[in-house]
Amino acid sequence: MISIKQAYQMIDQTIQISGFVHEFRNLGKIKFIILRDWTGTIQVVTKEDITVNREDHLTVIGTVVKSNIAKSGIEIKAEKIIINSRVKKKLPVDPTGIVPSDFDVRLKYRFLDLRRPEIANIFKIKSDVINTYRNFLLNRGFIEIHPSLILGAASEGGAEVFKVEYFERHAYLAQSPQLYKQMAVIGGLEKVFITMPIYRAEKHNTIYHLNEAISLDVEMVINDYKDVMNLLAEVVKEMIQKVNYEVDKINIYSYEEIVNLLKEHGVNIEIGDDFSKEHEKKIYEILEQDLYFIEGFPTRIRAFYTMPKDDMYSKSFDLFFKGLEIASGAQRIHDVDLLENAIIERGLNIHDFEFYLEAFKYGVPPHGGFGMGLERFLMQLLGLNNIREAMLFPRDRTRLIP
Ligand code: ATP
Ligand code: MG
Repeated sequence: MISIKQAYQMIDQTIQISGFVHEFRNLGKIKFIILRDWTGTIQVVTKEDITVNREDHLTVIGTVVKSNIAKSGIEIKAEKIIINSRVKKKLPVDPTGIVPSDFDVRLKYRFLDLRRPEIANIFKIKSDVINTYRNFLLNRGFIEIHPSLILGAASEGGAEVFKVEYFERHAYLAQSPQLYKQMAVIGGLEKVFITMPIYRAEKHNTIYHLNEAISLDVEMVINDYKDVMNLLAEVVKEMIQKVNYEVDKINIYSYEEIVNLLKEHGVNIEIGDDFSKEHEKKIYEILEQDLYFIEGFPTRIRAFYTMPKDDMYSKSFDLFFKGLEIASGAQRIHDVDLLENAIIERGLNIHDFEFYLEAFKYGVPPHGGFGMGLERFLMQLLGLNNIREAMLFPRDRTRLIP
């Protein structure tokens, strides 16, 4: 298949291209069709006795010629036009975007919404970004693994897990690949990454949360949790630069220093509290930086497997992009007794974690990693006003179809 973009380079050649009817003008003897594929639009002229409608799909055989009338200076003189498919109903979404549609309607007719180049671009960039992530890690000796997303027990406890029927039993959809990526590293796969969905049964409907999202995970053998932060900083810089944005130095702040800063600015927060989305916004307003780490969160507000630093704080961090958390990471506990205590302290059921604890009894390297939400990242990168814009067919509290 020759794309419309390629056709522009093929002057005087006879070619075959396909696309949707973007516009149709009938001047009687002569007709103009603006044909569109995902690489662009081109004018087609024909003398055939033909009537087409917007979004009909055509194949055109013709010669690429220079033209004074075509806006681009080039058009196709059609020799043959084949109508592959006709539009059968009134278009519920305007594919040119000139007539705006409700977001709900756009998502219902996502296949039409996608015909707008700026919407298609989100998914082209998403593909670029995930492959940048992948290549960056492959070049540094990581391997991609694919742990199962159907689990016998909720990975981190908590209510926000989807329960599914599994033959005669129940299973759970993975909220994160956490325990399994750790077991891969304990198994001797020293540097692993994952690009798979996570499922969260969060009931709230926010512009930052999906019930199914793509998580970009890393788990690796480390000396220090700063090793993970350095890697995350580098890979995120590369993902941002891929779309031609400049990245400044990524500063690191401690949790304690940020809480004190918020207090100085009159925010109602105490040491020990987790940051709400409002806090995250306020921090961005105060710091006026696009990318920064906050590290050393209180152990109590992090997942049970997080390595403590001292009695109060942990070897954990979050990465913020334009004022929104995009990634969380930490060094993990590798001592089995400490890990067991952490599970019990949080009131989790120790029996759910027996398979996991078992892995810590046969030699464990110090290790750590992170999880980054691909759609969160994309939302901030492209300035989208709702995370659903970054998911082809988003799943939320009310949306299961299409
Ligand atoms: P938040 O507090 O922002 O809701 P979290 O701290 O619960 O997120 P983590 O468990 O730390 O999320 O997950 C790691 C990353 O995965 C987050 O930083 C975020 O980018 C992404 N993520 C988590 N939950 C969701 C979700 N429901 N929808 C989209 N992305 C998510
Ligand atoms: Mg987090």
